[in-house]
Amino acid sequence: MKIKKYFTKWLLIEYNNAAIRENRNRQLKEDYLDNLPDDIIIPIVLMFYHTRDEIRVQIVLDEKGNTGFLDMSSERYGMLPQYKTDVNGKFIFETDEQIRKKFPYKNREWTQKVIKKPYRKQNVFRKLVLEAYDNQCAICGVKEPKILRAAHIVPVTKGGNDKIENGLCLCTNHEIAYDQGLIKITMNGDIEVYSESLNIPYQKILYPSDQKNYPSKKYLNMKYTNNY
Ligand SMILES: [Zn+2]
Repeated sequence: MKIKKYFTKWLLIEYNNAAIRENRNRQLKEDYLDNLPDDIIIPIVLMFYHTRDEIRVQIVLDEKGNTGFLDMSSERYGMLPQYKTDVNGKFIFETDEQIRKKFPYKNREWTQKVIKKPYRKQNVFRKLVLEAYDNQCAICGVKEPKILRAAHIVPVTKGGNDKIENGLCLCTNHEIAYDQGLIKITMNGDIEVYSESLNIPYQKILYPSDQKNYPSKKYLNMKYTNNY
């Protein structure tokens, strides 16, 4: 799936400041940021989950193709603007106003309260969910633990818990697609796809082998209707 998210100059500066505040890794130097043209569009060329709640994105820094990375919370990643292409293949970017609308505060930097959960608790949730789903992505069936994640149905930030009933075993791609609403799952486990470039082999999710580990219909429906 091609990433269509990008930074503008002020976004990159703001996200870099957030990374400094939140003690995240980054490779961007302040003088590089200051010298960027005001109207520059900086596309994200690569992204992956660095930890469960942290995303690392890679951007191209100069004409030589040198790249740098920046870490951010998954919530902050979700707020980045996304370009579209029209029928002639021309890029359409979001306006500054559209971008700023997504942030909770007007005219000042958004300071996110970062809750760092104990490492062990995350590990227990991951272990339980992956085991329940026999180490396969509930959407595509891929069986490679290195790219499998224990995704929350109702996000922790929206009050979701760390129980198996609020978990889905998803590969990194489908975790992002589910998180971004490109794939939706009904309370009966039907998979709905909202991106033409995503090919999903199944109509229904692959459930855990033991029925007591099934995802909660209530939580699936909460996520489905609220688009968290
Ligand atoms: Zn998958």
